[in-house]
Amino acid sequence: MIELKTKQFTNGYVSVIQLEDKKLIETTSTCLPIQTEIRITGKKDNKIDANDFSVQNWAEKWTVGISTQSGCPIMCKFCAVNRLTDKQGWRNLTTEEMVGQVKYAVAEAQKINGGLDPNNSEIFRVLFTRMGEPSLNTTNVIAAVRQIKLMYPKARIQISTIGIKKSVGLVASLFELEDEFGYDWLELQFSIHSTNDTFRKWLQNETVMSNKEIGGLAASWYNAAPNRPWKATLNFALSKDTPFVIEDLKTQFDPKTVFVKISPINENPVSDENSLKTLFAYENSI
Ligand code: SF4
Repeated sequence: MIELKTKQFTNGYVSVIQLEDKKLIETTSTCLPIQTEIRITGKKDNKIDANDFSVQNWAEKWTVGISTQSGCPIMCKFCAVNRLTDKQGWRNLTTEEMVGQVKYAVAEAQKINGGLDPNNSEIFRVLFTRMGEPSLNTTNVIAAVRQIKLMYPKARIQISTIGIKKSVGLVASLFELEDEFGYDWLELQFSIHSTNDTFRKWLQNETVMSNKEIGGLAASWYNAAPNRPWKATLNFALSKDTPFVIEDLKTQFDPKTVFVKISPINENPVSDENSLKTLFAYENSI
């Protein structure tokens, strides 16, 4: 793995990495104050300036984001990865390539955080949320999760899927990991972005499951371990014209079984081509 480009922010960095066959991936390492962790504090009024960076933040909440594929065949209409996929195609990453990203991200952050051991950070989280759809690469993803968990026993690991038929197999494999390592470290996210199934098929991919089917999967996740400290997350990255209807959401998902996260889409040339404009910028300009 060769680092091609790294962009540093006040609270971490994002790197473009070249693999042996010259295909590209993206890896991140960032930190935040512990108060940003809603799951821990339970506070509804966390008035935190996430830009108020301190080196101490690495010891509070350290997050590594890794890719599961180079390029991505899903081709969501807002995703900047499409440009790369058009150029180089896509392939699944090996287990070693995923574990290697975590080792790289930890080593890079250690250059600026005094060599902190991630096992000593209050929260050390690995997100399988950068480039790629994990359910298309389940076998390697599960093997990577297991290795990472053995290397960093305190790690929280989050898997995010868009909800296609293969997501059912992915979730079944996650249950097996929980049987092995316990119920307080694995987080499951469904990135569904709209409450309208027809819109989702256009926005993400023809093959997405309906929200009601994903609701069943989220309920099975909840029911397998109701005492798990958190529920499955529904991730909505909204554009100005995204159908998002709370009443529909309530019929698709049992509120007891899910946590809802809403953010604006990040505008880029691909979202521009598809006339997807970020929601909050418009709201803010009024
Ligand atoms: S699944 Fe993720 S990486 Fe793939 S196109 Fe959609 S947003 Fe991009």
